[in-house]
Amino acid sequence: MESSGKSNRQLNGGLLYPNGVRRQVRSPSVIVIGAGMAGISAAHALHEASIQVTVLESRDRIGGRVHTDYSFGFPVDLGASWLHGVSKENPLAPLISRLGLPLYRTSGDNSVLYDHDLESYALFDMDGRQVPQELVTKVGEVFELILQEANKVRKEQSEDISIGRAFSIVFERKPELRLEGLEHKVLQWYICRMEGWFASDADTISLQSWDQEVLLPGGHGLMVRGYLPVINTLAKGIDIRLNHRVTKIVRRYNGVMITVEDGTTFVADAVIVAVPLGVLKAKTIKFEPKLPDWKEAAIDDLGVGIENKIILHFDKVFWPNVEFLGVVAETSYGCSYFLNLHKATGHPVLVYMPAGQLARDIEKLSDEAAAEFAFMQLKKILPEASAPIQHLVSRWGSDINTLGSYSYDAVGKPHDLFERLRVPVDNVFFAGEATSMSYPGSIHGAFATGQMAAEACRMRVLERYGELDLFQPVMGEEGVFYVPLLISRLPTLVWFAIAICYACWFTLWPLSSTLFHVEPQPQPQPQPALTELMP
Ligand SMILES: Cc1cc2nc3c(=O)[nH]c(=O)nc-3n(C[C@H](O)[C@H](O)[C@H](O)COP(=O)(O)OP(=O)(O)OC[C@H]3O[C@@H](n4cnc5c(N)ncnc54)[C@H](O)[C@@H]3O)c2cc1C
Repeated sequence: MESSGKSNRQLNGGLLYPNGVRRQVRSPSVIVIGAGMAGISAAHALHEASIQVTVLESRDRIGGRVHTDYSFGFPVDLGASWLHGVSKENPLAPLISRLGLPLYRTSGDNSVLYDHDLESYALFDMDGRQVPQELVTKVGEVFELILQEANKVRKEQSEDISIGRAFSIVFERKPELRLEGLEHKVLQWYICRMEGWFASDADTISLQSWDQEVLLPGGHGLMVRGYLPVINTLAKGIDIRLNHRVTKIVRRYNGVMITVEDGTTFVADAVIVAVPLGVLKAKTIKFEPKLPDWKEAAIDDLGVGIENKIILHFDKVFWPNVEFLGVVAETSYGCSYFLNLHKATGHPVLVYMPAGQLARDIEKLSDEAAAEFAFMQLKKILPEASAPIQHLVSRWGSDINTLGSYSYDAVGKPHDLFERLRVPVDNVFFAGEATSMSYPGSIHGAFATGQMAAEACRMRVLERYGELDLFQPVMGEEGVFYVPLLISRLPTLVWFAIAICYACWFTLWPLSSTLFHVEPQPQPQPQPALTELMP
């Protein structure tokens, strides 16, 4: 597809028609921008459908916000690490099952903490005193009541407000829900965890839309061996060009021309843009003609937050044998959360995960200072803690390839912005976690939008070639058996298959009813042909 003065549309081998006549045809071609889960998912689907696909990726690695690091001698994820929804309803479940990748379940359905149950944890105050579990449970119940009251506030408000503001209104109306002393600090810790889920502070999250995402059943499971094997499997056999940062997308009625940083151009019938929302917001990719106003508004108005990981590798385990440790404080900003990876993987690793403003502030520090900061939080609760032997620090907010961790509903903005971001503009299609109405901010959401974009794009390019009937659909061919997921909550690395085996699961892609939905598009305006623009 690379353009060096001539079109890339080579003839491909030829197709066998029903009457046995072999005819040479031009191969429909698509460029995918971004080799994260959404881009790789789209490219995989198009490749399977015999469409010529090239992926342009700005980094020197694939995966994007899937970033499994092996420098400790074992895998640790600096980006996504949970499968949210360990069930057949999860579009990624069939692949993870087939690969035999084990999961460690940290919570079941409907936990107030999303990805953790209140089963295996230890919370401390700043002086290192452990908070009694009954108190944590009691405050959790109060937090649920506060959320219910906030829901009532939502019904009365004509204008959207933040979830943080709604909490204040609830406390004014129901002073009995306002907690004092240690209980107040534990409540702040719950809010801190909620902020981690959205990667944003409570005073920035929309009350109207904060709970609009769909939570799949089955609870939350950690990918014990990291997420990269999933990406690598999907990426097999695909033409991926690393270190290719896209700077310009020109669309014409007969194709697209993509320019990368060094000036090289690529042409194709269509493009799937699967770069992060933060990158679109930064406008480092120029669109010609410019994107319509409704699309630009969606890019501007969706929220993108920050959550980071500071991964501390110790020579031995000196902390309690629980799934997570926490420090409670006067404000959610001052609270801390450490995921104990030893429980799931057997390696002596704690993962400190700040979000929102705290994450933003920590990104201003050097890696060493950030690791030291995390270690100091740990020392507050475990004064005898020995220093880590290695550390890893993510910077999803300032990394120019991401510019944010994941999207959220900002105050005063409608939830359907996610859908508006997904809707194609002519032959420019969009994918990525921020284009998922149902599962924003997730790996399975990114995967599903890649599949959707691939299908819509396939329809478009094959219509142009008049060959729709010659190609298999993108979805529905990924095997018909459901292999049970390997999930455990055992402290040792003994894995059990889950009890229920879904013997004949023919509908592997539960989203398929929506996958074929293509938004009506405005009629394309007369445009010059792409060949007129080619160098
Ligand atoms: C700290 C953290 C923890 C998370 N935890 C979880 C979790 O446990 N479970 C879960 O489900 N989700 C989690 N997520 C969210 C999940 O990682 C994302 O939703 C998902 O990986 C996004 O995939 P994507 O393909 O949309 O974007 P990305 O993975 O960001 O892929 C976009 C790609 O585009 C590339 N790119 C950017 N600019 C250009 C350009 N100009 N030209 C070419 N390429 C470009 C990028 O380098 C990147 O490879 C987490 C995210 C973070 C940051």
